[in-house]
Order: sequence, then structure tokens, then C-alpha cells
Amino acid sequence: MNTVVNFASHILQGLGLNKSVHAFNGGVHPPEHKIESSTQPIGQLALPKTLTLPLRQHVGYLPKVLVKVGDQVLKGQLLAEAEGTVSAAIHAPTSGTVTAIDAQIIPHPSGLPDTCITISSDGLDTWTALQPVTWQKTDKKTLVDSLRRSGIVGLGGATFPSHIKLRSNSQSTIHTLIINAAECEPYITCDDLLMRERASEIVAGIEIVKHLLGAQKCIIGIEDNKPLAGLAMRAACQPGQALVQTVPTLYPSGDARRLIQLLLDLEIPSDKRSTDLGVQVFNVATVLAIYRYFAFGEPSISRIVTVTGNVARPQNFEVLFGTPLPDLMSAAGGAHANTSHYIMGGPMMGFDLPNSQVPITKAANCIIAATADLFPAAPPAMPCIRCTRCADACPVNLQPQELYWFAKSDNFEKARDYKLFDCIECGCCSYVCPSTIPLVQYYRYAKSEIIAADKAQEAADLARERNEFRLARIEREKLERAQKHAERAAASKPEISRAGNSDAPTAAPSDAAVTDKQAAIAAAIARAKAQKLAGGAAPAQPTPTAAEVKASPADKQALIAAAIERAKAAKLAAAQAGLTPKNTENVSASVHAEINQTDALREQVQLTKATPD
Ligand code: SF4
Ligand code: SF4
Repeated sequence: MNTVVNFASHILQGLGLNKSVHAFNGGVHPPEHKIESSTQPIGQLALPKTLTLPLRQHVGYLPKVLVKVGDQVLKGQLLAEAEGTVSAAIHAPTSGTVTAIDAQIIPHPSGLPDTCITISSDGLDTWTALQPVTWQKTDKKTLVDSLRRSGIVGLGGATFPSHIKLRSNSQSTIHTLIINAAECEPYITCDDLLMRERASEIVAGIEIVKHLLGAQKCIIGIEDNKPLAGLAMRAACQPGQALVQTVPTLYPSGDARRLIQLLLDLEIPSDKRSTDLGVQVFNVATVLAIYRYFAFGEPSISRIVTVTGNVARPQNFEVLFGTPLPDLMSAAGGAHANTSHYIMGGPMMGFDLPNSQVPITKAANCIIAATADLFPAAPPAMPCIRCTRCADACPVNLQPQELYWFAKSDNFEKARDYKLFDCIECGCCSYVCPSTIPLVQYYRYAKSEIIAADKAQEAADLARERNEFRLARIEREKLERAQKHAERAAASKPEISRAGNSDAPTAAPSDAAVTDKQAAIAAAIARAKAQKLAGGAAPAQPTPTAAEVKASPADKQALIAAAIERAKAAKLAAAQAGLTPKNTENVSASVHAEINQTDALREQVQLTKATPD
């Protein structure tokens, strides 16, 4: 039977826990199923033969691949470097050869293939040269910049690159560091075992993170169903280092905002970040990874994974990223034959894996072998009866039944108004709904539709802006051209007025000048005709007039043509008159003179053409 816990404060009083822990609204307490995997120590796996590393293992941009197929790599070597502000690097989990860089199915809710780097292990597990950092003697900026190359992301499941959370932010001062060790989802015990076995390393990591954030205070929040972890952490903490605080076992106390509310009685408004109020939250496994990076130079190449559910020996294992799921299952004694599928994460917020061959990634805190007995299919959804149990269970104080109606009727704007995007998809509402309505699916659907519509609107706005910019540019260019034309026209006016003056060679020809040139051409033609009529007398060499010499290129072409005509006419006249060789010589001389004159004119034309405007 579903257990609904509406008032965490009531539980606290019942349990007699520390009164400094506060309450948040709603929450649920599903069967824990933690004992199965938490009785054994953290196990180690045999080195896998091949490891497949998806580039998409974190929130943000994909990293840039630095290796190629055939490259020999060492354990801890950088394979892909963080690219863009929010991104994380990927390192070789063991030594070997890069055998493929291609698309493979990855453990992601989409179930789609994505780019992966495959390494074939050489079995030697040889480390690259590691570079530990004495963090106490290094300035904060250098430390945070160095973390960008560590590949460390939030190991609680959020996979947000850690160096981003540690960047100095002039807008806010962090006074309190919260270590999230609540581990509130059923089945998952990896943080519990980590605290039991490696508490001193965690505390060392807390010291580094406190130093980087400049936080004076640290509170470690642990659910009260992990008493051994609480004891170990208390024993590891020196006075003043951190306060270990148990919180009630109530899902979703591991949500960062809920944990802050529990520990500090501080409700973060939905439009603000916790850092705006001076609080930063890190997962317990993440601070341990940060410690190992600075203390030993070890980049992020492995994590603790809970293997539980329908397996022979549920247990936690330290697993190299890229390890194939079958290797992990074998280590846990294998999944039983009736296993229907695998879940990554917990049953409340996890997702079904697309197949049983996917690799383990940074987000994989738990793998559950599922069966129909463990996770029976939900009965068909019934109509909403407006019982408001969902609202009572919602830790974010939403009205899930209203969100459901709006999502179902595609009234997305209304859903947005009802703070759909504040929903953390914890599933508490679905868990308590007597009508077994898959409420979270409706919210995911509405969110994806709104995001898609927003993106389409953004693209349309961008296209409209670009078009408006283009039209404005065309108009501006038109105006500029018109202005240039006007300036040219204004500049040419005085020149036109001077065009009658032969000392103005570049002026546009005036009507008078054109008339002069036409008259000169007509005179030349008339002379040629007169000579022809004179019947063979050696043609007098016409001397080009000043107007002919100053003529424009087009006019000069006409003059050349006329001169050629004159030469031809003179030659014809000489032939008709039966001139003696002496006379012929005279005619030839006259023709040559005409040709020379023509050449001179042609040269003038060439020179005029070669002169730029
Ligand atoms: S719990 Fe289910 S039936 Fe009740 S109001 Fe919410 S959605 Fe409706
Ligand atoms: S899934 Fe969303 S609406 Fe439902 S209880 Fe969680 S936060 Fe509230």
C-alpha cells in the first residue's frame, strides 16, 4: 500500500530526531529495498576486455575528441577535452587501443545511438603520468581551471560539470556547503557504502570544496536509514570541519532544494538558485572524486554502482566508465532468467535501459534488474476523481491535478502559468494517485511541447529579425547610392560648364563641343570628296583640327574611320586616273600619310581609354 507522508515535521516529532531539521511539504515513503545491496562491501570488477565511452555523459556540450582509431592510450589519458563553457572531459579508464569512434546505443532515456570511443584493453592497466596538486598552495582560479580537465561531474545523477559549480561568482558569496548524502530513492545504496568505507577521503574532499567556495560552514545531510554511514562520517569529521545531520527517510529529501529546506529551513524561490542565497550543494561521491583528483591526479574514470533487483548477489561495485552492462551483471552473480529489463537510477526517477549491452556511464548510480513481480505494470488509468492526494504529496507545492488537465487538453500556456517548469518530476503525485494516472508522463509531454514551441518561436523571431535587418540594409544601400549619384551630379556641373574650353580634357562634352566635332568630321569627308572629284590630283593631307584632336574616344573612332575612308578614296582615284609610277608614289605617300594620321589618332584613343575616370 502506498504510504503517503504529508507532514515531514510530524515524522520528525514521532522519531524524536534533531529539532534543527525542518520540513517540506508532501513527499512519499515507498518500500526502501536498500538492505539487499548494502550488506556487502564495495566489490571490484575484473578488467573488461573492451570499454565503450559515450561522449554524452554529462549535462552540456559534447567534449572534443583528441584521439583517433588505432591510437595507443594509457589509463587516465585525456581522450576528449571539455568544449564550451558547460562541458566535461573524458579519460581512458584503462590502457589499450582505440578501436572505434562511432555511434552506438547509449544508456539514455532517448534510447538513441550517439558517438562513443571504444577502447580495447591491453590488460596491463598502465597509468599515464599523473599530476597531483597541493591545493593548499595553489590559487583558487588555477585549481578550478585544472578541474575542467578532470572530467568530474555531479555523481548523484545530475552529471553537471563540477568546475562550473566551483567558479567564483562575484554576484553571490557562498557561506554554506551542503553535502547531499540523503540518497532518498529506493534500491540505491552506493553513497551509503561510500560513506561507510571512505569517510576520511570524503571529509578531505569537503575541505577542498569548502576552500574553493569560500564557505565557512558545511552540513552533511544523511537520511536516517543509513546509521552506519552517519557514524562513519561523524567519526571522520574533525571539530569544525562539518556537521553531520540526519534527515527523515522521506522521498525526495535528496532533491537539492528539499535538502536545503530540511537542513536550513530555507525555501529557494523557483526563480532563484541556491547560490543566490549563499548555499551550494555537492553530492558526497563528487567531493570524493575532487579529493582524488587533487591528491593523486586521478581524473574521473570510475564510480560506485549499486547492482540490485533480480540478480543473484546484489552489491555495490567500483566500476570503470565504459564497462559493458553484462560484465557488471556477471560480477553480481548474473541476472535471473525472468528479468524483463534493466532500470538505470532508482524506480522513481530512473529510466528503462534500451538494451542489456549498454556501457556504464557517469550517471549510472544504480542498475536494477527488473521483473514483473518487482515492478508490476500499472493498471489502466482511470478518470481523475479530484481527490487532491497528488497535491498533498507534491514537494514543490504544485497542483498536479490541474497540471494534468492542462497537459491533457494541450493547454500548455495554462500549464506554464501553473508553474509546470517547477515540477522536478519526482513522481510522488503518480505514486499516490488512486486513479493510477501516469501524471509525470503528461508533464514531460507538456514540457517537451512547450520547449519545442519556444524553440520554433525563437527561430521565427530570429528569421524575422534577420529579414528586417536585410530590408533595412537594402534600403540603406539604396539611399547611399542615391546620395552618391547626387554628389557626382553636383560635382560634374561646373565641369560641364567648362566643357567648351579645350583646356578641360576630362570634362563631359557640351552640345557645342559635339557640334564642333561633327563639323570637323563633315569637313574631313567633304575634303575627301572634293579630292575625289578633282580627278586624281594627289590628295592634300588634311590636317586634323584642334577639335578633331580633342575629340572624345567615340568621336576619334569616327575620325579614324573617316581617315581610312579618305585613304581608300585617294587610292581609288589614283587608279582611275592611271597615274604614273611617280604619281602612284605620290598617292602612296598620301595614303601613308593618311594611315600615319590614323595611327596617331588611334594612339590618342588608346591613351584616352587607359586614363581612369
Ligand atoms: S491524485 Fe489522481 S485522481 Fe486524485 S486529484 Fe490527483 S490526479 Fe486526480
Ligand atoms: S512530479 Fe511534479 S507535480 Fe508531481 S509531485 Fe513531483 S514535483 Fe509535484
